[in-house]
Amino acid sequence: MSSAFVDSVLAAVISRNPAEPEFIQAVREVVESLDPVIRKKPEIARLKIVERIVEPERQVLFRVPWVDDKGEIQINRGFRVQFNSALGPYKGGLRLHPSVNLGIIKFLGFEQVFKNALTTTPIGGGKGGSDFDPKGKSDNEVMRFCQSFMSELFRHIGPDTDVPAGDIGVGGREIGYLYGQYKKLTNSFTGVLTGKGLSYGGSLARTEATGYGLVYFTSRMLRDRGADWQGKRVVISGSGNVAIYAAEKIQSLGGKVVALSDSGGYIVDEEGIDLAAVKRIKEVERGRIKEYSGDHPKASYTEGCAGIWAVPCDVALPCATQNELDGKAAAILVKNGCIAVAEGANMPSTPEAVECFLASKVSFGPAKAANAGGVATSALEMCQNSMRLAWTFEEVDARLHGIMDNIYDQCRAASEAYGAPGNLAAGANIAGFLRVAEAMTAQGVV
Ligand code: NDP
Repeated sequence: MSSAFVDSVLAAVISRNPAEPEFIQAVREVVESLDPVIRKKPEIARLKIVERIVEPERQVLFRVPWVDDKGEIQINRGFRVQFNSALGPYKGGLRLHPSVNLGIIKFLGFEQVFKNALTTTPIGGGKGGSDFDPKGKSDNEVMRFCQSFMSELFRHIGPDTDVPAGDIGVGGREIGYLYGQYKKLTNSFTGVLTGKGLSYGGSLARTEATGYGLVYFTSRMLRDRGADWQGKRVVISGSGNVAIYAAEKIQSLGGKVVALSDSGGYIVDEEGIDLAAVKRIKEVERGRIKEYSGDHPKASYTEGCAGIWAVPCDVALPCATQNELDGKAAAILVKNGCIAVAEGANMPSTPEAVECFLASKVSFGPAKAANAGGVATSALEMCQNSMRLAWTFEEVDARLHGIMDNIYDQCRAASEAYGAPGNLAAGANIAGFLRVAEAMTAQGVV
């Protein structure tokens, strides 16, 4: 049951941001779990930390004009929401997808604040992107878009101000084009973006980090149930950066990934997904997951991605997009014996789905903890850039593993300290919030 304080914060957020359902959903999820914190620490209410934390420090919206291969002028909209800098420079990815709007970028930026705090690295939270759709565009079109996007963004970011990275639709190619334009406009070679190529300041293991980190976190969830990956059937949605490297790590630990998807549909391969084929289709050819069944006759392809949750599994990892797993899908997972769900994507489970997992004693790893490995490794990339040196893959991976273990410990400890033992979602919200709240309190009303 929520308190009058929580109700009044939520009412203000809803009335100020009426057309932003994803942002309201993300705020509600965090603020409702802060009730025990407010009771224990009345100064948080007095200093209006929660009221301040739900309001972005700065929001930049801009026009992104570019010329397509036919010579037509195209106009997209660019966003950068600099949400909270109490712990360090704003940090968070850029998303290129036709569904992008201000509310989506705000929900992602808000989540990022707490996620980044959990990593215990010195980074604040932000997010950005555009409604540009890279699908079906030539390399030259993507480059012209990225150059136009950066021609405005560059004046708002910097290695000690705001350090963007990738997200949906932004991988190594896009980061390269964005970085080149930033360098040209500022005449400086700095660590202003992460996820860079290895030839110009990128970190080993950044590509793998979110997926690997998700698996390290889930390993701890399984261990707490006396289980491990050996022989586990795993269903993963998406087939992008996060999904592919989560699958890679699971296979190396003895798990069997039997299904993957994209926005068109999903594949099931009872023999275990052939990851080399998926990498070729998705990373090299930029194709569709449907093509997998062409040279894997025993695999099946089903049109539409929502049905993937009906594939029986022990562990489910939603790694595509927000609200992709609803209450109905959660009930099917539970019925089929799923014991653990961990979120690789941001806010992929609806509130009804989360409720179902918690009520059914399914171990649930919330996004802001479970997928924090990417941004944690981005912070390690910033660190290497500042020092002008490069760590080995093993060194970065070991640090990532340590950070994910530490995040798990923080979530568990906070869930126990605030009366919700085992509820890692509440634990993540509380532990992340307390870290930001402490810094905001020390820095005064700014
Ligand atoms: P990619 O662009 O590499 O891959 C995204 C995957 O999800 C693709 O398979 C894509 O299918 C699918 N997808 C995207 N949008 C939708 C949609 N609306 N409906 C169904 N499927 C969809 O992105 P990432 O792997 O980097 O990101 C995936 C998720 O992980 C996002 O929620 C992102 O915010 C989150 N995340 C990513 C991090 C990173 O380091 N990359 C860090 C932390 C979180 P299709 O190709 O058909 O569009």
